[in-house]
Amino acid sequence: MISLDDPKKLRPLRDQAHQVAMNMLRPISRKYDRAEHEYPRELDLLAAMIDGLSESGASSGAGASGVRRTEGEGVGEGSGSPGVKNGTNLASVMSIAEMCWGDVGLLLSLPRQGLGNSAIASVADAEQQERFAGLWASMAITEPDTGSDSANIRTTATLDGDEYVINGEKIYVTSGERSDAVVVWATLDRSLGRAAIKSFVVPKGTPGMTVERLEHKLGIRASDTAAIRFDDCRVPAANLLGSAEVEAGGQGFAGAMATFDNTRPLVAAMAVGCAKASLDLTRDLLERVGITVDYDRPGLSQSAAAASFLQMEADWEGARLLMLQAAWMADNRMANAMEASMAKAKAGRVASDITLSCVELCGSIGYSESELLEKWARDSKILDIFEGTQQIQQLIVARRILGLSSAELK
Ligand SMILES: Cc1cc2nc3c(=O)[nH]c(=O)nc-3n(C[C@H](O)[C@H](O)[C@H](O)COP(=O)(O)OP(=O)(O)OC[C@H]3O[C@@H](n4cnc5c(N)ncnc54)[C@H](O)[C@@H]3O)c2cc1C
Repeated sequence: MISLDDPKKLRPLRDQAHQVAMNMLRPISRKYDRAEHEYPRELDLLAAMIDGLSESGASSGAGASGVRRTEGEGVGEGSGSPGVKNGTNLASVMSIAEMCWGDVGLLLSLPRQGLGNSAIASVADAEQQERFAGLWASMAITEPDTGSDSANIRTTATLDGDEYVINGEKIYVTSGERSDAVVVWATLDRSLGRAAIKSFVVPKGTPGMTVERLEHKLGIRASDTAAIRFDDCRVPAANLLGSAEVEAGGQGFAGAMATFDNTRPLVAAMAVGCAKASLDLTRDLLERVGITVDYDRPGLSQSAAAASFLQMEADWEGARLLMLQAAWMADNRMANAMEASMAKAKAGRVASDITLSCVELCGSIGYSESELLEKWARDSKILDIFEGTQQIQQLIVARRILGLSSAELK
């Protein structure tokens, strides 16, 4: 029999994350939606708890553990088959989904859990791992002229003695103002294409790095989104993550992009959690007006509202299963680029559809600020945009299925 239950060994973590979401994140959710750009101080305590759990080995944090796939990670327990692992990737998606049932913007604002942390955990050598341990790192790839086409970045890094000099402009950097360091993508030589793109850890306060502004956004307002300028910004050469060599065929760039094979299921998890919040509240609101969703009868024999609800839940379940599959494959050291993109594409779209449909189903209550439904409809949209838009995920899936390269299918 196929069991669709969460693995037994991860249920306590899931339940703990749900409690945190309910008791720590939900109560301050509206406050920081209104107080855009104000740092949610309450998160310091939560971040310290997550650090403590990570150090004790009881938890893998909130998803910044990177893509290193070590042997023997989380072997066996609760999986039913010898050698099959339910490890840190599965634990991360499950806990992130629960936390985002509480609030996506607050989850994205958690200290030391940035996308830059995933890049460091994935690409840094042993010395760098140690030197950058405990830093909160954001990630700066996007530029005014470069978004989806990240291989076209213009920010440059020029070697001068034992330092790199960085020049360029980055936009939409999540946690760009609050983080301790920014992992900046820059090219060593534009004429060499993607092979020359490297990432550099630039600590906060480095002369030449300036946060120009913070964006005002539709949703996830608790999360700061910065535009950052680099003018002759010097960092030690040892802050280049991974190898400085420009390898033929762009292997280094492919390695950096592989970070996303593990972070895309995390974004899918955010979408799954946010959509679940909308579904749970909508079910309650429907019940309050006498509409009960009956799981033992076909949707068509129930009210239109109940039928719509059942359809949304089915879509949500599809997204959740793709998310679990992509994370589980990473735990089991299987190539998961296609499944990671499938999970993000499905969950990103479904979360936007579900959260907006829940607003529609609940009418004026859905639209009003008296409930969080309208906020979740705003928060969910970004999950279908950052770390690769819906269209880009579909492109990646199509390339994998058709066996075409990025040059062959654009
Ligand atoms: C709130 C927020 C936070 C962000 N955080 C970060 C961050 O921390 N770090 C970072 O580096 N970036 C971040 N981003 C940037 C984000 O990753 C980009 O916005 C995203 O990659 C899309 O790039 P773009 O906005 O330039 O759109 P474009 O790439 O210009 O795309 C515009 C539209 O065209 C479509 N499109 C583009 N190329 C194709 C194609 N080949 N085929 C079909 N359709 C295509 C896209 O899907 C999209 O619908 C963030 C953005 C936001 C809004």
